[in-house]
Amino acid sequence: MKTSKSMSKVIISSLYQSDVFKMACRQFDQAADAISLPEEIRDRTKYPRRSFAVSLPIRRDDGTVTVYEGYRVQHNLSTGPSKGGIRFHQHVTIGEVAALAMWMSWKCSLVGLPYGGAKGGVIVNPDQLTDRELERLARRYMQELIPFIGPDVDVPAPDMGTTEQMMGWMMDTYSNHVGHIEPSIVTGKPISLGGSQGRREATGAGVAYLVKQYLEDMRIPIKDATVAIQGFGNVGSEAAFALEDYGAKIIAISDYTGGIYNAKGINTRKAAQYVQYTRVLKDCDEGEPITNDELLTTKCTVLIPAALPRVITPKNAPKLQCRMLAEAANGPTTVQADRIIEKRGDIEIIPDVLCNAGGVIVSYFEWLQNKQNYYWDRDEVMTKLFRILEKAKVSVDKQQRAFGFSRRLAAQTLGIQRVADAKSGRGLFP
Ligand code: GLU
Repeated sequence: MKTSKSMSKVIISSLYQSDVFKMACRQFDQAADAISLPEEIRDRTKYPRRSFAVSLPIRRDDGTVTVYEGYRVQHNLSTGPSKGGIRFHQHVTIGEVAALAMWMSWKCSLVGLPYGGAKGGVIVNPDQLTDRELERLARRYMQELIPFIGPDVDVPAPDMGTTEQMMGWMMDTYSNHVGHIEPSIVTGKPISLGGSQGRREATGAGVAYLVKQYLEDMRIPIKDATVAIQGFGNVGSEAAFALEDYGAKIIAISDYTGGIYNAKGINTRKAAQYVQYTRVLKDCDEGEPITNDELLTTKCTVLIPAALPRVITPKNAPKLQCRMLAEAANGPTTVQADRIIEKRGDIEIIPDVLCNAGGVIVSYFEWLQNKQNYYWDRDEVMTKLFRILEKAKVSVDKQQRAFGFSRRLAAQTLGIQRVADAKSGRGLFP
């Protein structure tokens, strides 16, 4: 008993070197206090169940070998197989992966999916690898995880820096290992390999849907809304297209090279075509150049951070000029910035665990379709997606009203309570 306690302390204290992990823990503590979560269940619900670090040697196209470092953190397996994406980014740390896994637990539980939470990451800048090198890395990552995952154990998916194609390679690697095709081992695959209709656009479409619903609650016609989006990858671009289709005006978009601003509205599909060729937004002539810092404090109706964590900080929170902050990214607002915004009282927040849940919801549909070998059309996927998001929105609104919580606290307490209930219901074994 003594040994296991001190062992877990070593792992946990190394996680605490990460600001993102500390932030997720602070959020957890606040939520646990707000619902008076019994001491005896707290640490079990808070800390990751299993964390893996793997070495990933791959042969480069020039014949040399590079060893990358990768992680998979399975935060919670009490409510079903753990679920969550894999991030390829040069600044990934195990602490960040653990925080993201924690948020996956609350997210899945908040929207009622029969999943726990997990996340993976590899320290790599995918832009610096060729397609062949990325294929080797994706396959090697899957190969190293095979003993620890499975369609009913832990089901990965794409996240920042990973693509449908990579999920296809991972599925192929796992299938070769088991000796038959096993599409339900990962979600976010190409449609030709068992991917779901609507999965590619699911996160962005879900963000746009919730923005539309909350604007309606605020009695702001979407046709009068202006939108600024930080991050123009899969999530940011799909959210932009969907909001443009609803009638909103997208006035600013950006990626890590900077962004563009156009008060008359950016043609986001043209900007996306530009990015397809150049890979970056830099010098796109759909608007005037703007920095990422300027974008975040642009006057707009809706601000959507759709990239990295911790971009809304105590420094820029007092300067935000939006009416709504829709968190398409995971963990974009620091705890201190959140407090500043709450005190200001003039910005409605759609918290990450609710705002970006569309992706994992359609991942769940994909996994179900794979298991049943029966495929749905896009209308069925989108209708069911919006129904689940609406139900989650209603339960968050209800929790907010019942306890006087902020929307973030309402969403987090609902997610955490359900995980804690499952844990205490199952008991402690052995
Ligand atoms: N990476 C996405 C997220 O952060 C999707 C995870 C999944 O589909 O499992 O929610």
